[in-house]
Amino acid sequence: MLTAQEALERLKAGNARFVKGEATQQKLLTHQERAEMASEQNPFAIVLGCSDSRVPAEMVFDQGLGDLFVIRVAGNIVAPSQVGSVEFAAERYDCAVVVVLGHSHCGAIQATIDTLKHPDQAPSSNLMSIVNRVRPSVEILMQTELKDDLKKLSAHAVRSNVFASVNQLRHGSAVLESLIEKGKMIVVGAEYSLESGEVIFFDF
Ligand SMILES: [Zn+2]
Repeated sequence: MLTAQEALERLKAGNARFVKGEATQQKLLTHQERAEMASEQNPFAIVLGCSDSRVPAEMVFDQGLGDLFVIRVAGNIVAPSQVGSVEFAAERYDCAVVVVLGHSHCGAIQATIDTLKHPDQAPSSNLMSIVNRVRPSVEILMQTELKDDLKKLSAHAVRSNVFASVNQLRHGSAVLESLIEKGKMIVVGAEYSLESGEVIFFDF
């Protein structure tokens, strides 16, 4: 089992390879290699990321089959099923790190901004359940001068939405809170740049 620091270093090293175009994990596995993994898994980190087709966690961190326990949902939001998934993996596989991975140009953030600007054109109730979880992070920014600069607003909203998800995972679950208090797990926020391929880890 890796420590939180070791797990983070492994993710950062993988992303550095991905950025340089030197990814090593995209090889095809043999039938035997795949079959050997069937009986158990041992992921070293949990990633809660966005469903965006351009941000597959395994690729951007250059990790292989069985390395990451990944939860993807539009806008990397935290609803009960996401908390449950993180609890499951944290307890069962002793993962010491949970990364909430947002990204630039996130469609879920844009959909939230659009809905707030044009409340008369609300999306379906299902999509609204995602928008409503992103909304507090965007709403507060729309009360500042950022509201007049869509590009800046979207960039800030991505970060504040990651922060909100990190916060919810840290404090919205007794199971996770207890693991964090015992020093067995950390939850960190990060942002992937669609342009550079780089993942920046936040200090919050
Ligand atoms: Zn997104």
